[in-house]
Amino acid sequence: MSSVSHSNLPAEKAYCRFTPGRGQAAIDGTATLALTGVEFDLAHGKPRRLWHYAGLRADEPIRANAIDVLLSSRDEPGASLFVQGAPFAADLSVRAPHLSQRARQQRRRTLWILLFAVFAGVIAASAILSWSPAKWVAKSLPMSWRERLGNAARESMTEGYKECVDPAGLAVLTTLGGRLSKGATGTTFEIHVYDWSLMNAFAVPGGQIVLTKGLIDKSEGPDEVAGVLAHEMGHGIEMHPEAAIIRGVGLGAALEIMLGGTAGGSLANVGLMLAQLGYSRSAEHEADLHALEILKAAAISPKGLGDFFTRVAKTEAEDGGVSPAAFSWLRTHPLPAERAKLVRVQSPYTATPALDAKAWEAFKTICKTTRALDKDKS
Ligand SMILES: [Zn+2]
Repeated sequence: MSSVSHSNLPAEKAYCRFTPGRGQAAIDGTATLALTGVEFDLAHGKPRRLWHYAGLRADEPIRANAIDVLLSSRDEPGASLFVQGAPFAADLSVRAPHLSQRARQQRRRTLWILLFAVFAGVIAASAILSWSPAKWVAKSLPMSWRERLGNAARESMTEGYKECVDPAGLAVLTTLGGRLSKGATGTTFEIHVYDWSLMNAFAVPGGQIVLTKGLIDKSEGPDEVAGVLAHEMGHGIEMHPEAAIIRGVGLGAALEIMLGGTAGGSLANVGLMLAQLGYSRSAEHEADLHALEILKAAAISPKGLGDFFTRVAKTEAEDGGVSPAAFSWLRTHPLPAERAKLVRVQSPYTATPALDAKAWEAFKTICKTTRALDKDKS
């Protein structure tokens, strides 16, 4: 005795119209919901067709109150089937839930969640890895371009100040620069000293560093100068100056400078910007971490790094912040306490002074001889 349950096979037949393809005549028929798909019989004695539920697509998602549906199927690409009747539509959306409007809303919600997750991920990654597009661009520039950008920046910011070139002092500077560069992952830094009373030191693009007489005068020993130089080298290694210029004047103007143009007024801006530039806390921290590595590789004590920044900050506080020159430099090099702490927690190593007494004397008098200004105003 066969007792097949027909409860899930609605006997109800719905009116349908089948279109075999675009531009072809439609054929009337009746459709039912079978176990595995939509079954339909067509007029003119055509064979019965079955479109499987999984392969169905609805022209519009089936709403709860739908009175008809327009279907297509992977089983018969190009063809379409229009079926009339609210019960048919309601039952179909149960058997093929992916056709329902709820399913589409769900898909949209999932898509939005996914997009949001990707967006949040990018933001988080940027924050965690300090990823910056400008830095990424800077890192892909050839060294010779960065040098040209550095020359332009250095010349524009030191305009009116003479470069210190006393031979004995220069020799010491070259030796010290070479000793520090050893730990600077492949970049040999070029240090330029200027007869400028403003206390300042900054990295410019292309592995160059500008140091002022004002800063040398303020330092109490060669280890302090070495610490400051190592810190600026850290900015250079991370290409903070390159990235700052690209962010500041835009990639177009930066490229024009690099390719030998002047990019209108942006050249002057570049100099001003770098001289006044303050980096973010994380950039300062990055520079400090490099500084510690550089000093260790050069067997120079990191104490000078902490001491100099701390002392200058303290002097500044005692002066009540009246000296605008010192204030400007401190503002662009914050975190003396954090820096000193970072130095304190380093495990000790054998160090020798950055310069011996004789070399230090020669270094301190490097501005005894200065190079005549290139652009002597006639
Ligand atoms: Zn810094």
